[in-house]
Amino acid sequence: MSDEYPLVIIGCGAGGVSAAESARDEGFSDPILLLTDEDRLPYKRTKISKSIVERPGRNAFALHDEEWYASNGITLMTERQASRIDTDRSVVRLSDGSEVAFRSIVLAVGGEPIDPLDDANLSVPVHFPYDFASVERLAEEIRARTASESAIRVGVLGGGVLALELLDQFRRMGVHAVLLSRSGRLMARELDDHAHDLLLRSLEQNGIELHRGVRVSYASSRHGRIRLSFHDSSRDYFDVLVAAGGIAPRISLAQESGLHVDTGVLVNSALQTSDERVFACGDCAEHPDGRITHLWRDALRQGRVAGRNAVRMLRREDPEPYRYVPFRLKCEVFGHYYYSIGEPEPKSMFHAGFEKHVFADSARYVAAFTVAEELSGIVMVDDRDREAEYTTAVAERWTLDRFREQLELYSDRRGR
Ligand SMILES: Cc1cc2nc3c(=O)[nH]c(=O)nc-3n(C[C@H](O)[C@H](O)[C@H](O)COP(=O)(O)OP(=O)(O)OC[C@H]3O[C@@H](n4cnc5c(N)ncnc54)[C@H](O)[C@@H]3O)c2cc1C
Repeated sequence: MSDEYPLVIIGCGAGGVSAAESARDEGFSDPILLLTDEDRLPYKRTKISKSIVERPGRNAFALHDEEWYASNGITLMTERQASRIDTDRSVVRLSDGSEVAFRSIVLAVGGEPIDPLDDANLSVPVHFPYDFASVERLAEEIRARTASESAIRVGVLGGGVLALELLDQFRRMGVHAVLLSRSGRLMARELDDHAHDLLLRSLEQNGIELHRGVRVSYASSRHGRIRLSFHDSSRDYFDVLVAAGGIAPRISLAQESGLHVDTGVLVNSALQTSDERVFACGDCAEHPDGRITHLWRDALRQGRVAGRNAVRMLRREDPEPYRYVPFRLKCEVFGHYYYSIGEPEPKSMFHAGFEKHVFADSARYVAAFTVAEELSGIVMVDDRDREAEYTTAVAERWTLDRFREQLELYSDRRGR
């Protein structure tokens, strides 16, 4: 005999927890089960790579305390993995062999790290700091090795925000950090040429050893050191190796359960999967236009809609469509603040009528991208105080004149 929960939420990140919150906001009073395979209270994942130096406690970034779940009638099961959704029998099978019956499901299982050594097809000890426990293990190893060895080299494979945040933390921990990026360009999706140059300059000023356009061909480890050989026949040695090369949607559970998947779990505009009782949100979901969001804010917003629509489905009410917001990313590293929203270079350049306008002084840099005279994206460095206005300007697709006047922007150089 299995326990029964009208709403089962699998995965407790931004999407899962906000789905539970919105179901309760919707007046749904039946029991909710929140399942996570992690070992602690659901937490704000974005924090774990930004505060390693501060040695945060186990539940430092908890989204809610234990009491919140209990008082909202939400059963939180930690260290429990959903291994199969049996849609014929309407049960979720758990890794411990037990089963729970459901009437609706929100799938919020996030993504899984891409292994940058996969091509090298060899296993060496690599840290994947994508959850709190993994970050703790990484920090522990670095501290233990710096305590017993004079100078250690930490290699970070990746070229995006996570890799940069880790480098910043490692530098503050006093270790020699080396960035190994496959791409010649860091934060390639978010920064234009000038912002990218500012970032490179800042890394150089902070003593970061940087290798761009490198590809690992062979990896081996001996006596606690990892040797990497690269395609250009060079080689390098590291004491600790960290993978920060991005994530791919976690689709195995959905796939094995017979739900339709492609790169992600396929959803319609109401975030409903190929089984009408199962909704998906956040990093695991692939939307009708093919987009996969990979950002906290989007997972949170999608979780709210998925939770609400799961309740509406149970009540036989019409679902609410999910409304997209422009892609937006912030990154604060080595004392500088990088912000990117919408469609900055190079994507916007493919639109007819694309223009770039640069507003800059010695302390800050703003590049505004317009398509058909409306703002389509912004790249900003070190103008944090006006970040909210920049977000609104792109979301509302202001004209360039309004943007310039309302923000009283300093100078205006046509870009490129
Ligand atoms: C280190 C790091 C830093 C980041 N920083 C930023 C940032 O600054 N800004 C930003 O916008 N985004 C950032 N992101 C991305 C952001 O955290 C994600 O987009 C967001 O967490 C996605 O939420 P989610 O609910 O879809 O999935 P997740 O937060 O990944 O949660 C999914 C959960 O489901 C669990 N799970 C998976 N499979 C199962 C199963 N079968 N059974 C039970 N549980 C399961 C996972 O263990 C996990 O706890 C960062 C990500 C990482 C890893």
